[in-house]
Amino acid sequence: MDFTGKVVLITGGGSGIGRATALAFARRGATVVVAGRNADPLDETVKLIESENGKADRITADVSRARDVQRLVTTTVESHGGLDIAFNNAGVFSMAPVAEIDEDVWEHTLSINLTGVFLSMKHEIAHMRANGGGVIVNTASTFGAHKRMEGTGAYTATKAAVSALTRTAARENIGAGIRINAVSPGPIESAMSLRPGETEAQRAERLRDALPIGRAGTLEEAAATVLWLSSPESGFVVGHDLVLDGAATA
Ligand code: NAD
Repeated sequence: MDFTGKVVLITGGGSGIGRATALAFARRGATVVVAGRNADPLDETVKLIESENGKADRITADVSRARDVQRLVTTTVESHGGLDIAFNNAGVFSMAPVAEIDEDVWEHTLSINLTGVFLSMKHEIAHMRANGGGVIVNTASTFGAHKRMEGTGAYTATKAAVSALTRTAARENIGAGIRINAVSPGPIESAMSLRPGETEAQRAERLRDALPIGRAGTLEEAAATVLWLSSPESGFVVGHDLVLDGAATA
């Protein structure tokens, strides 16, 4: 897969799946703009890409704020001459049984995981419609449309909604040359899949028994899936929510 000349925007690009995907796109020739709330982790991603002679930029933005997202898309286009691919990946996890979810936690989780994806798509689609098309990949989760687990109500609700929003937006925009899909990872080796106080070795032990494949997905496997969905190789895949979970939901 070759992304030479493409401009790629990645939210949540300062860590985990977002950073790994930024590195993977840059290694295949793309100019990558990473976005997130804090500058330091984004700078680290840019440094990693530049140390491999790749092209990268960072823009601080909170995806739950409409004005930030509008500025993010506008600045990306103005600074880099366009926007070809967007990976709407920023997200937060929270755990509590439904009867105990604090309203602030509920609002916070929705504002980032769901409103963040909505706002990102809204502004990305507007640009892509005016410029002949593009590709969007949203991050959902197996905890959502594919699987439920006690204690993940707020998170699961947002991710199921991202899956539904992705399909609706895909139908609305494929006629305009904008191909929209989602990825639904199972546990991936980022900080998010560690339970409170858990070490990486303990996580590995837990998942050895819990998952048919016997391990978490690697960051590189998650990134490769996003790259494939962003490439012309997957051109007939539209409005799909691609599960990568080592058969957890099979
Ligand atoms: P992560 O915590 O490393 O990444 C999440 C990123 O989102 C962070 O960089 C964080 O700074 C950013 N972010 C959070 N709130 C933001 C906001 N308001 N504005 C901008 N950026 C914000 O974990 P990850 O595993 O790399 O998560 C990436 C995505 O993958 C998330 O949407 C997550 O829900 C999803 N996911 C992860 C797993 C897993 O096992 N790791 C499984 C399924 C889905």
